[in-house]
Order: sequence, then structure tokens, then C-alpha cells
Amino acid sequence: MASETPVVTAPLPSGLAAVEQEIARACKEHGRDRAAVTLIAVSKTFGADAILPVIASGQRVFGENRVQEAKAKWPALIAAHPGLVLHLIGPLQSNKAKEAVALFDAIHSVDRPSICEALAKEIRSQGRHPQLFVQVNTGEEPQKAGVAPQEADAFIAACRDKYGLDIAGLMCIPPVDQAAAPHFALAAKIAARNGLKNLSMGMSADFATAIQFGATHVRVGSAIFGHR
Ligand SMILES: *Cc1c(COP(=O)(O)O)cnc(C)c1O
Repeated sequence: MASETPVVTAPLPSGLAAVEQEIARACKEHGRDRAAVTLIAVSKTFGADAILPVIASGQRVFGENRVQEAKAKWPALIAAHPGLVLHLIGPLQSNKAKEAVALFDAIHSVDRPSICEALAKEIRSQGRHPQLFVQVNTGEEPQKAGVAPQEADAFIAACRDKYGLDIAGLMCIPPVDQAAAPHFALAAKIAARNGLKNLSMGMSADFATAIQFGATHVRVGSAIFGHR
């Protein structure tokens, strides 16, 4: 929620400045509106000492991949800095759905019926509505979370019709050893045919390519915070 008081910002930490510059460049090159791309600063493994300068520079959207780690770090930061937006980008277990719905403003890892059921129950009982992304395993990697591309349409329909979930978009993580572009293109195609407007794709190594293929949310960690 936009605050009425102007935010006093410190100079951008160098990693964030470089990422902002590259996002602006990619948007310009590919005819994308900068305002249509949300930068999620992925702060997993980093503590408040590393996160505070990034908040001070004006960044408001952050991502974490583990519920427990986020619970330990973020409530104090959120209390001290109203207007922060927190995304869960990592896998979710059903028994963590309650905590996830309570803490996060967006969840990128909806990928199976048990999670849909748990999220639907918590959304009803808590009255909180995190933005939901269905994760698609575009590379069909056995070790990776996400629904298979050929099952995505039916899964998205079930999310909506069976569980009453409002799905905002798709998320994908291309295989590390392959060109990302075909995976981003596949996710964009599945989103388009399902009427989904948001695409969470692109990390430190490939966010400019993701912007080219329509990313609305890029999840960038090490390029901002340094190596983990
Ligand atoms: C860690 C992580 C990122 C950020 O990765 P970097 O390469 O550090 O930018 C993005 N998405 C997910 C799902 C992650 O777990």
C-alpha cells in the first residue's frame, strides 16, 4: 500500500543499482513498461544487516524461499517498515500453509492439490488473499517442484473451479544447464492461453531475457546481495 509520507531514500547499494539499470535497459530494448516489471529482491540466507540498506534505498518487494527463515527475519522488519511486500518463492508444505498465508503477500509455488486445499482453507479462515502463482516445471525435471507443462491447463482450471483460488500467474525456474529463453516462452504461452497476466520468471543470470519474454516479476538474489 502506498504511503502518504514521502520515503527518504539512501543511495542504492551497488548491486541493486546495477540490477535496476539492467531492468530499465531490458524494458527499453523490448518495448516493456518498467512499471509492469516488479523486482523481487531475494534475500534468502541474508540477515537484517544486509537487508536494511536495500530497504533504505527504497526497495519494497522481497522474496524468501523458506517459511521458517522468513518467519524469523521479516515480522520485525515489516513492523519497522510499513509497506514492505513479501513473496514466498520456494516450495510450500501443506503444514506450513497457515504460516505462509499469515506472513506472505504472494506465494509462487502452488503446484499440487494438497497445497490448493490447504491454501483455500487458510485464505477463508484468515481473510488474507496472497497473490498466487502456479509453478510450472517447464524443464520437466524430476527433482524440481511445479506441475508438468502438459498438466498445467487442467491444474489451473482445478485451482479455480475446485478450490476457488484466484490464480494471478505462473512461475518457472528453467533448468540451470539450458538456455532459459525457450522455458520463458513456454511459460508465457501457457499463461496466455489460460488468461493469466503475471509471469514470475528470471533470476540473477537471466532476468533481462525473462523481461524480453514478458516477465512481470523477476526474482533476483545474488546480483543484489552478493553470493550466498
Ligand atoms: C534463490 C532463488 C532466486 C534468486 O536466485 P539468484 O540466482 O540468486 O538471483 C530466484 N528464484 C528462486 C525460486 C530462488 O530460490
